[in-house]
Amino acid sequence: MYTRSKELFERAQKSIPGGVNSPVRAFRSVGGTPVFMKSAKGAYLYDVDGNRYIDYIASWGPMILGHAWDPVVKAIQEYAGYSTSFGAPTELEIGMAELIKSMVPNVDLVRMVSSGTEACMSAIRLARGYTGRNKIIKFEGHYHGHADPFLVKAGSGVATFNIQTVPGVTPGVAQDTLTAAYNDPEGVRQLVATHPGQIAAIIVEPVAGNMGCILPSAGFLEGLRSLCDREGIVFIFDEVMTGFRLAPGGAQERLGIRADLVTYGKVIGGGMPVGAFGGRKEIMEHIAPLGSVYQAGTLSGNPIAMIAGFTMLNELKNNPSVYKELEAKTIYLRDGLDKVFRAWGQPYRINQLGSMISVHFSDHPVVDFTSASGANNQRFKGFFHSMLKRGVYLPPSAFESWFLNNALSTTDLDATIAAAGESLREVGE
Ligand SMILES: *Cc1c(COP(=O)(O)O)cnc(C)c1O
Repeated sequence: MYTRSKELFERAQKSIPGGVNSPVRAFRSVGGTPVFMKSAKGAYLYDVDGNRYIDYIASWGPMILGHAWDPVVKAIQEYAGYSTSFGAPTELEIGMAELIKSMVPNVDLVRMVSSGTEACMSAIRLARGYTGRNKIIKFEGHYHGHADPFLVKAGSGVATFNIQTVPGVTPGVAQDTLTAAYNDPEGVRQLVATHPGQIAAIIVEPVAGNMGCILPSAGFLEGLRSLCDREGIVFIFDEVMTGFRLAPGGAQERLGIRADLVTYGKVIGGGMPVGAFGGRKEIMEHIAPLGSVYQAGTLSGNPIAMIAGFTMLNELKNNPSVYKELEAKTIYLRDGLDKVFRAWGQPYRINQLGSMISVHFSDHPVVDFTSASGANNQRFKGFFHSMLKRGVYLPPSAFESWFLNNALSTTDLDATIAAAGESLREVGE
């Protein structure tokens, strides 16, 4: 069933560290051989052995309208003929910035970069440059890319592989990153109180997605907002996952909370390597060439990446029913899974908001990193492989959210729920 994938994985390991270019892809936490993909269309992935999968990672978010969505494919083909890069400004970049501003609240100026990591590391530098303060607060299990200041108690692959301290991150850098538990406003207040006038920024995944999907508890983000206002701290929403996914205006719109700076990635590029950070003019004006907080990129605002992202965002702006459909599908899936999990009879929790959902093999509510880590990973492993065998591609880690795409049909969702029922019987007690 996975003959060719196995051959490719053997070959890959001889020239690529661990055989992959991003760690979670290696299947280490679930075991077995990573599946090598060949193509994808709509809701389906096709691997090199000819197996078909219903896709629940959507390239970790970007494929919100399904794979190889025709308008994006056509736009890329057309624009590739005009040259794939100029290293000089284009009208496309203005269109993209204007479109983002028209969709997202509280963004006066926006700078394009090439990944979510770049967006978050630049936002932090900007917050530090703007406030003249050094320290930042982040939350345990939140992932903001792989830049040094974020690799302290990080989520995603760092949590998946249970890496406590990342070698190569200097103590000097690490000591400027303070961490608190998500959904614990008192912990944050204490950190701020013990470091008066030293906190440049609080960065948060407004809806956490890198330790499974975890929702903000009532009043948590509002509390951080007023704390930041009181203390002159820059409040950064990392919307790399939630941006253009929870609503056209992301978590800011969906949850009705304003951030000072916002970072984007994933959906924003329509599947091309794109990130962005933006916010209030008064802060963004400190970025070079207006100010002296330096930030640059040879391929930033790349024309192919811009046309792909623009085409997708434009559709999401003009056809907001996509969000209603996605949410209805996700709730349908959640309710269906709930039935089969209940029939199975072992402890579980399902967290869901919009088109983000995750199942935790846990007997307690999953509200932060500690509760997420307490889930039964052995069961997740078994469940993952049973689902894979039945043609359902879930994230290969319990610490990742599932992302729905709007190409999924009711038939696909029913097939997924049926597969989950069978998989749970296989997992056993
Ligand atoms: C994926 C992710 C990032 C990093 O984005 P890359 O494009 O992988 O560098 C940052 N923040 C969040 C919330 C993410 O989910």
